[in-house]
Amino acid sequence: MQVGFIGLGAMGLGMARNLAKAGLLAGVYNRTAAKAQALAAELAVVTAYADITKLAADMDVVLTCVSADSDVLAVVAAIAGTAKAGTVVVDMSTVSSGTAQQAAVLLRAKGVAFVDAPVSGGVEGANNGTLSIMIGGDADTLDKVRPVLEAMSSRIIHVGPTGSGQATKAVNQVMCAGINQAVTEALAFAAAQNLPMEKVIDAVAGGAAGNWFLDKRGKTMTSGTFAPGFKLALHHKDLKICQRMAENAQVAIPLSVMTITEYEQLMAAGHGDEDISALFRLKSGH
Ligand code: NAP
Repeated sequence: MQVGFIGLGAMGLGMARNLAKAGLLAGVYNRTAAKAQALAAELAVVTAYADITKLAADMDVVLTCVSADSDVLAVVAAIAGTAKAGTVVVDMSTVSSGTAQQAAVLLRAKGVAFVDAPVSGGVEGANNGTLSIMIGGDADTLDKVRPVLEAMSSRIIHVGPTGSGQATKAVNQVMCAGINQAVTEALAFAAAQNLPMEKVIDAVAGGAAGNWFLDKRGKTMTSGTFAPGFKLALHHKDLKICQRMAENAQVAIPLSVMTITEYEQLMAAGHGDEDISALFRLKSGH
């Protein structure tokens, strides 16, 4: 089975490396070609494609991890032009359920199957092959690509039909907004009391308030380091999707709405490419 990967960003790079480690990766494509060339040189047995349509023509499974809805639709349109009937496309970006459904319709017309497969676990999960993958699509298609997904993950949950993986990821993003609010506010509260931050984080992380974000980002944010990680502008994009979903479902998500407003302040101040933990800047007044 020939497997290709499109989108070698913060997430895609680690995911592609884990596929290669499992002996599953044949080709890579990245919009900025130098990244694909560098990875192909590092992995030796993988081809860097300069042309996305050529990669699509050569592969049986195409994985995509790009930024936003319009990017996924542009990439899927390019793949649809040349992919063979029977190819499976797996989109691992975070986008709306509607975009996943549009992608599936576009590809189905060419005899190409699609699953939405957004991930959680951060750059660390991508690098370590321990992502949680949320699947929308039919079970037979998932069975075909399961060995590929297993090389990148520790958990694969088939939620339901096309779009339901992305709907589940939206739940994850609403929860991440609340956790970001709780952790950044609490650590700014600690800093304002001039407490020794490393000790506070170690103590709190071992108890009932412990969580992934505190473990991975607590000490970096309080020492003023905000390298992504997960770019704040990308979480903002996700929360705007969640806001529309919440309006349609007539449910209130006030922590997410507050987070959108605060991210917009940070983006206006030039911090959009920083990690989401840069919310600490606002809470601590720095
Ligand atoms: P990133 O570092 O900004 O990388 C984005 C990748 O997508 C780059 O390779 C970029 O190519 C490519 N791309 C963007 N638009 C494209 C287009 N129109 N055509 C072709 N390629 C395009 O982002 P990331 O952090 O890896 O995130 C990727 C996706 O995973 C996003 O949907 C994000 O929400 C989701 N996600 C991220 C995390 C995280 O912790 N970072 C966790 C879970 C899910 P260039 O190199 O040319 O810019």
